[in-house]
Amino acid sequence: MPDYDALIVGGGPVGAALALALRGSGLALGVLEARRADAARADPRPIALSHGSRLILERLVVWQELAPVTPIARIHVSQRGGFGRVELDATEAGLPALGYVLDYGRLAAVLARALETGFCDYMTGATVTGIAAEQDTVRVRFDRGRGGERATARLAAIADGGALAASTHMRVRDYRQAAVTARVVSSLPHHNTAYERFTSQGPLALLPDGGTLALVWTTAPEQAQELCAMPDADFLDRLGRAFGGRLGRFTGVDARAWFPLKLKVASRIAESRAIVFGNAAQTLHPVAGQGFNLGLRDAWELAGLIGGCSREQIGEAALLESYAARRWLDRRGGVWFTDTLVRLFSNDLAPLRWARGLGLALLGAVPPAKHFVVRRMCFGTRG
Ligand SMILES: Cc1cc2nc3c(=O)[nH]c(=O)nc-3n(C[C@H](O)[C@H](O)[C@H](O)COP(=O)(O)OP(=O)(O)OC[C@H]3O[C@@H](n4cnc5c(N)ncnc54)[C@H](O)[C@@H]3O)c2cc1C
Repeated sequence: MPDYDALIVGGGPVGAALALALRGSGLALGVLEARRADAARADPRPIALSHGSRLILERLVVWQELAPVTPIARIHVSQRGGFGRVELDATEAGLPALGYVLDYGRLAAVLARALETGFCDYMTGATVTGIAAEQDTVRVRFDRGRGGERATARLAAIADGGALAASTHMRVRDYRQAAVTARVVSSLPHHNTAYERFTSQGPLALLPDGGTLALVWTTAPEQAQELCAMPDADFLDRLGRAFGGRLGRFTGVDARAWFPLKLKVASRIAESRAIVFGNAAQTLHPVAGQGFNLGLRDAWELAGLIGGCSREQIGEAALLESYAARRWLDRRGGVWFTDTLVRLFSNDLAPLRWARGLGLALLGAVPPAKHFVVRRMCFGTRG
C-alpha cells in the first residue's frame, strides 16, 4: 500500500486548493511545501480573483476567511499615446463584481491555515528533490533538513510553480519584461475601478485595494530595478507620467518589489503517475490577472476527477489522460489570451497602435464582444 493516495508537491495557493477540494473525500493526502509555515505571507504581489474563482473558493469554505477583499466594479482599458478605450462593467455583465483584489501573501496564508486542520499531512520546510514512477506507485524524495526522506503515493500532483521544471517539457518565452508591484495612493478615489493601461514598455495595471491602489507596472527589467531603487517622489512622478491624470496625482507609495516575466508552458502535463498543474503547468504574464484563476480551475477539475474514481484508479493512465484532455482548451485559451495581449500591445509601431485603438473602440461598441471578454476573464474558456 502506498503512503498516500495523492501527494501534492508544493503547498502554494494552487496546491493548497487541490488539497482543500479533496477534504472530506476520505483519501490519504499529503502536501509537501518547501517554505516554512507563513513564509509566503510577505509576498506583496496583488492577485485579482475572478468571479469564477470566488465561486470555487466559496465551495472550498475559505472565501469568508479572505476578507477584506476589494471588489472590482469596472475595468477601464486604454493605451498610452493612442485612441480607443473600453470599459467593462460588472452590472452590465450581470455579476456582483468583475473580480476581487487581495495580495498573494494573505491568499497563501489563509489557504495554508486551512491545511493545518488535520485532514491531510501538511509538511512545511519540506523540499522535494526527486520524483520517480514505479509500477503501481510514485516515489517522492524530499528533504526536511534531517537527511533525505521518501514517501510513496498513487499520484504525485505537482504544483511547485515550475521549480522542478527540468523534469517536464517546457516551452519558454522570455518577455524581457519585469513587473514592479507596490501600493500607491492617488488624490482622486478609485470608485472600485481597475485600470489597465497599455504602454510601449508593457501593460500598467492599477487595481482598487481598500483605500489604495495595487500597482502592477510592466517594464524592461533594467528599468524595473531603477524604479524600485529611486526615491518615492521620483517614482510617483514617473508613474503619473506613464499613467496619466485619470486618478489625479499619485501622493504615496509603499515598498516596491519586482518580478521577472516569462511565459512557461509544459507540453506534457500528465504522465508516469504525475500531473503538473497551476504555474507548474503554465506560468503566464500577469496582464489580465489570469495565472492563479487558471491554476485554481486546474485544481478544481483535478479534484473532481480524483474524487470521481476509485482509489485504485488514482494515478492510472486513464485518469491522467482524462485530466490532460479536459484542461487542454482552458489552458490553451489562457496562454493564447495573455500572450497575444502582451505581444500586440507591448510595442510602439504606429499602424499597430492605430489597429489596437480601433480594436478597443469596436470592443466597447459591440456588447456581445464585451460580454465574451468578461465571461472569458471570469470563467475561462468554458465560460
Ligand atoms: C506580479 C504578479 C501579479 C500577478 N497577478 C495575478 C492576478 O491578478 N491574478 C491571478 O490569477 N494571477 C496573478 N499572478 C499569477 C499568480 O501569482 C500565480 O499564477 C500563482 O501564484 C500560481 O500559484 P501556484 O500555487 O501554482 O504556484 P506558486 O505560487 O509559485 O507556489 C508554488 C509553491 O510550491 C513550493 N515549492 C516550490 N518548489 C518546491 C519543491 N521542490 N518542494 C516543495 N515545494 C516546492 C513553493 O514554495 C510555493 O509555495 C500574478 C503573478 C505576478 C508575478
